[in-house]
Amino acid sequence: MRAPVGLYVHLPFCAAKCAYCDFSSFAGLLHLRAAYIQAVVAEIARRGAVTGMLAADSLFLGGGTPSLMAADQLAQIFRQLRASYRILPDAEITCEANPGTLSSQWLEDMVALGVNRLSLGAQSAHEGELRELGRPHSWAQVEAAVRLARAQGLSNLNLDLMSALPGQTWDRLRHSLDSALALRPTHLSVYSLIIEPGTPFFERHQAGQLNLPDEEEERQLYWNTVAHLERAGYRQYEISNFCLPGFECRHNLNCWRYHELLGFGSSAGGMWGHERRKNPDSLQDYLAGQPPQLERLSPRDRRFEQVMLALRLKEGLSLRAFEQAQGLPLEKAFPGALARQLAGGLVELRDHHLRLTRAGFDLMDRVLLDFLPDEGPPA
Ligand code: SF4
Repeated sequence: MRAPVGLYVHLPFCAAKCAYCDFSSFAGLLHLRAAYIQAVVAEIARRGAVTGMLAADSLFLGGGTPSLMAADQLAQIFRQLRASYRILPDAEITCEANPGTLSSQWLEDMVALGVNRLSLGAQSAHEGELRELGRPHSWAQVEAAVRLARAQGLSNLNLDLMSALPGQTWDRLRHSLDSALALRPTHLSVYSLIIEPGTPFFERHQAGQLNLPDEEEERQLYWNTVAHLERAGYRQYEISNFCLPGFECRHNLNCWRYHELLGFGSSAGGMWGHERRKNPDSLQDYLAGQPPQLERLSPRDRRFEQVMLALRLKEGLSLRAFEQAQGLPLEKAFPGALARQLAGGLVELRDHHLRLTRAGFDLMDRVLLDFLPDEGPPA
């Protein structure tokens, strides 16, 4: 029987563009929301007619800033999703939101639609860092958003935070972590800043204006974060993700465990069967009906992708899941790389899983390079 799929809907509108952001998100285009909803609804209906009524165990509304969409616009999306897919009664349904954009009524409407998890882009409890990042909210608004969500019964809450920010010391990062911990969310994501081409941060970095931590300082901030959150009772289950017991994000787990995923909206990607799809990044191209890019993955690509995604997880790669998905055991798919990385101490085999060691977490790119699809049985 086919396992349930994950569903993702991209909502690309933002109040302002943050200084580090290279996501497919757009400020100043709120007037296109109604047309966009129509296009997404039509896409869901078209895809549903092809895939059939698949069961879904997770739905993620991401962005952009989904909380800038009117509740009745999101209701149209939910109606079509439920008409095209069988969203399971215990499905995890997450909506991303930005502090400062939420009202009690909107949250009540989300709960009525079935949303049972809220993910807030908090990023930092340091007001100077928030300003430098170009975030249009304060930490007080993060706290207010958490209160509003809980008042509507939304207690499964994620807070996104960022580390390795310009000038960030451990004391400053710890202050953000402690401020987040004081709110006792069920889940915390702590992503290191990446300087992406085309962003204002990239230009400032090129001009030598960003005082970024060096590689060793960034590594220290990372491991300090892991230890600090674990001491507070949060289990690290992925490189950048932590949760109270039982509150792993199912949507994320579905991605890292290489489950099928259907994505809708501009820039949304998906993986169904052996085909990967990617919608146009540009809002205008998406609205004009430009088709997605399709790629049929070779067996070698699929083997590598499954390893690459699963090694992000603390649990690692299930040997049984690999063999079931790929039709051959891991040691036959990657005989050389597996032996080399085990001997080098960067990965280990335990409880029928292949996982990174602590040293391997620091050198993940090197491990993955070894698994790149240039060896193993022919495709
Ligand atoms: S709110 Fe999120 S998606 Fe929008 S610009 Fe900022 S980082 Fe990008």
